[in-house]
Amino acid sequence: MNWITKIIKAGEKIKSAIHKRATKEDIANSDWTSCCKGPILKKDLEKNLWVCPDCNKHHRIKPKQRFDILFGKNNYEIFKTPIPNDDPLNWTDSKSYKDRLKSARKKTGLDCGMIVACGKINDLKVTAVASDFDFLGASMASAEGEAFLYGIQYAIENKTPFICVSAGGGMRMMESLISLSQMTRTTLAINELKDQNLPYVVLITDPTAGGITASYAMLGDIHIAEPGSLIAFAGKRVIQGTVKEELPENFQTSEYVKETGFVDLIVERKDISEKIGSLLSILLKRNSAISTDENETTENTRSLSKVAS
Ligand SMILES: [Zn+2]
Repeated sequence: MNWITKIIKAGEKIKSAIHKRATKEDIANSDWTSCCKGPILKKDLEKNLWVCPDCNKHHRIKPKQRFDILFGKNNYEIFKTPIPNDDPLNWTDSKSYKDRLKSARKKTGLDCGMIVACGKINDLKVTAVASDFDFLGASMASAEGEAFLYGIQYAIENKTPFICVSAGGGMRMMESLISLSQMTRTTLAINELKDQNLPYVVLITDPTAGGITASYAMLGDIHIAEPGSLIAFAGKRVIQGTVKEELPENFQTSEYVKETGFVDLIVERKDISEKIGSLLSILLKRNSAISTDENETTENTRSLSKVAS
């Protein structure tokens, strides 16, 4: 090897070291993440409930972090929900569905993408479900459907309100019709909850899309959204291509969806527990008042509007 070859090889090594981009795994294992002003320490972001202090971006969080915020740190019980047989359709695309499930479980430490928990808000027992975006994009399939139904059943048996923290790209294509049927199953379950006069509150988080938006995320008595969340059915580009019109800049954000009436209020993460607590106390009082005192119902409806404004 002559000196010219040595210099070229050394140059290539330096070039590849400079240009080596961090993988998703590198970022996940690092103490740093990034936001508007570049790198930010995860522990600093965590102190602010994973909301950027500069641009107010509400970063995606895990179900347990969500429950910590809703109910207080570790102040809740997590339930083990039924897991149906994996891969009912024996699906393979670029990778087998069984392998995809295996790596999602390894990555998240969860059996499925949705977790059910029970805790207290303002001393009121509440059942909640939340999804993990790192589990196959929090898509909905039979195991997640079972988790949702388990949560509703628990809420009905224990007479608690039910909170759904929605997230996910939609129904999981690897389970085809079986995943689509979760839209019907969750809708029927919500109807049963409502028949019992138990409140159903949806907290819509980034991103909530596809069949999730078209079913359980839009059936709440109240729809709360975190600021800046993507809330959509089909993607913006698909819609733009179909209607052949320029769509507004903030199309499919919480703020836009609130304007069009699908979201009742937008609440910052730090205020969510308190806001849900106030709304639930009003909704529960209103439910008991409906059959007894019409005036009280009017009064509570008025309070509800006040809380929501
Ligand atoms: Zn930021």
